[in-house]
Amino acid sequence: MGARRPAARARLGAAPEQLLGKIVRVDDPRYESLRSTYTARFRPAAVLLPESTPEVVAALRFARDQGLPLAVRSGGHGLAGNSSNNGGIVVDLSAMNRVEVLDRTSRLVRVEAGARWGTVAQTLAPYGLAISSGDHGNVGVGGLTTGGGVGWLVRHYGLTIDHVRAVELVLADGTTVRADAAHEPDLFWAVRGAGAGLGIVVAFEIEAMELGDIGYAQVVLEADERGDTLRRWSEYLAVAPRELTTVVTPAPYGTGTAAVVTAVVASSDTTLVRSAVAPLLRIGVRLLDQRIQLAPYTALVSAAHLHPNIGQQSVVTTNGLLPTLTADSAAAIMAVAAGLPRSMLQLRSVGGAVNDVPPDATAYAHRHQQALFVASAFPAQQGALLDTAWSPLAPHVDGAYVNFESRPDSASFARAYPGGTGERVLDLRNRYDPEGVFRTGPR
Ligand SMILES: Cc1cc2nc3c(=O)[nH]c(=O)nc-3n(C[C@H](O)[C@H](O)[C@H](O)COP(=O)(O)OP(=O)(O)OC[C@H]3O[C@@H](n4cnc5c(N)ncnc54)[C@H](O)[C@@H]3O)c2cc1C
Repeated sequence: MGARRPAARARLGAAPEQLLGKIVRVDDPRYESLRSTYTARFRPAAVLLPESTPEVVAALRFARDQGLPLAVRSGGHGLAGNSSNNGGIVVDLSAMNRVEVLDRTSRLVRVEAGARWGTVAQTLAPYGLAISSGDHGNVGVGGLTTGGGVGWLVRHYGLTIDHVRAVELVLADGTTVRADAAHEPDLFWAVRGAGAGLGIVVAFEIEAMELGDIGYAQVVLEADERGDTLRRWSEYLAVAPRELTTVVTPAPYGTGTAAVVTAVVASSDTTLVRSAVAPLLRIGVRLLDQRIQLAPYTALVSAAHLHPNIGQQSVVTTNGLLPTLTADSAAAIMAVAAGLPRSMLQLRSVGGAVNDVPPDATAYAHRHQQALFVASAFPAQQGALLDTAWSPLAPHVDGAYVNFESRPDSASFARAYPGGTGERVLDLRNRYDPEGVFRTGPR
C-alpha cells in the first residue's frame, strides 16, 4: 500500500521542549517499527510519543501547527489503517500504557489508552480481576474501547464499553476533559462506541470483574453445507448460560467444511463448564475432536501476543450482526465461506449481558442481536471478491460493529450507527471537532 510511496519530507517546526526525544522522524532508528499499522505500511513525516496528558496536549498543538494530516494511535491494530498516514503526523500513545487498580472493592481500574490488552490482563490477574476486551493481547485499549469490545467473556460481562465509568480526553482545541455520566454526558455517550474521531482518549476508568480460572474448550465438528450446524449453534446460544461465549470458525475439511468451535465459560466450576459446553458436542453432523480444560484468562488474552505492527497483515474485513440464525441466514453464511478461499471467518456469540443495556445508552446501539459474523479476505486487494461472497448474507444483516470494518465509508457508517444514533454521532463530531482535526470517516 503506502510502502512504495516516498515519505513527505515535510519541514517540521521546532519541537517544543516537552517533546524533546519524543519526535521520531524518518531518519530515527525507531521510525521503522513505528511508522505502520498491523494491516498496512505507511510513511508519516513524524511519529510523536507523548508520555503524559500535558505531552499529548503539546503533541496535538505541534501536529496542528504543522498543518499536516493527523492520526491517533493506541495499539495500531485498527483494521481500517486509520492510525497512521503518509506524510502526516502520528500521535502514538504506546508510552502511555499504565494500568492501575484505583479501588479493589469497587473493582475500578484506570487504564491508559496505549496499553495492550495482554498487559492489562497480566496486570489485573494477581488482583483476581479481568476486563473482557477482545481475543488478542496485542490489540490496543484505545481503539477497542472507543468502538465496543467484543471479548471472550462478552455474554457474561457485556461489551468493554458497558463497564467504562469515565474517560479522560484531549479535545481538538487542546482542552482536557473528564467525561462521565454526570459531566459531559453527550461526549461520554459518543466515546463509548463512536470514540475514534472525537478527541484523543488518554485513559479510561473501567469496572473490572472478579475472575479466577475459566473453562476453555475446543470442539471440532463436521458441518453440513446447508447451515444446520450453525442454526443449531444459534438455537443453543439463545438459551445457554451467560457464562458461555463461543466463536465458530468454518474451516475446510476434506471436500466439505468443519466448524471449529472455541468455547469459553466464565467460571472455574467444572460441572458448570462441562454442562455449558456439552450441547455444542451435538450440533454438528459428527464430532471430530474435543478438548476441555481450565485455564487462566491470561492464557487467552496473552502478553505473549505482543509484537510491533509493521504492516504485516494485508487484509480486507467486513462484518454483520444477526438477531438469530434462521435456516436462510445460516445457509448464507455457509455460502460466504464457500466463496472465500483465502479468508478468516468467525461467527461470534453476542447477546447475553450485551443486550441488558438499552440501545440508546451508548453509541453502540446493537442490543438485540445474538450473533456477529466477521469475514476477512487476504490480501487487502480482495475487496471485490469479499463483497461478491458477502452478497447472499447482506439481506439478513441487522447492523455492524465498527471495529471489524476495514472500509470506513458512509455505507459501513450507516450499518454501525443506524438512524438516530448516526445523526447524534455526526452532530457530536461536529460539536467537539468542528475543524475536522480527527476526521477519519463520515461527518
Ligand atoms: C488481530 C485482531 C484481533 C481483534 N480481535 C478483536 C476482538 O476480539 N474483539 C473486538 O472487539 N475487536 C477486535 N479487533 C478489532 C479491534 O477492536 C480494532 O481493530 C481496534 O480499533 C484496535 O485498537 P488499537 O488501539 O489497537 O488500534 P489503532 O489502530 O491504534 O486505532 C484504531 C482506531 O481507533 C482510533 N484510536 C486509537 N486510539 C485512540 C485514542 N486513544 N483516542 C481516540 N481514538 C483512538 C484510531 O485513530 C483509529 O481510528 C481485532 C483486531 C485485530 C487486528
